[in-house]
Amino acid sequence: MRCPICREATDVAFKPFCSKRCADIDLNRWLTGVYAVPVKEEEDEDGTRPSDGIEERNE
Ligand SMILES: [Zn+2]
Repeated sequence: MRCPICREATDVAFKPFCSKRCADIDLNRWLTGVYAVPVKEEEDEDGTRPSDGIEERNE
């Protein structure tokens, strides 16, 4: 198994990362990613929605 951040060998203590540094980097990415996602309300003018978000893709 390899660290998803830097591709170094995983340290058991910081699985799946190689170090706390990479774990923090991933956490930061995740948090900023969450806050960076634009709130997109796809709502028609009459108030109906095309879908209820089942298998919704973020692209
Ligand atoms: Zn790493």
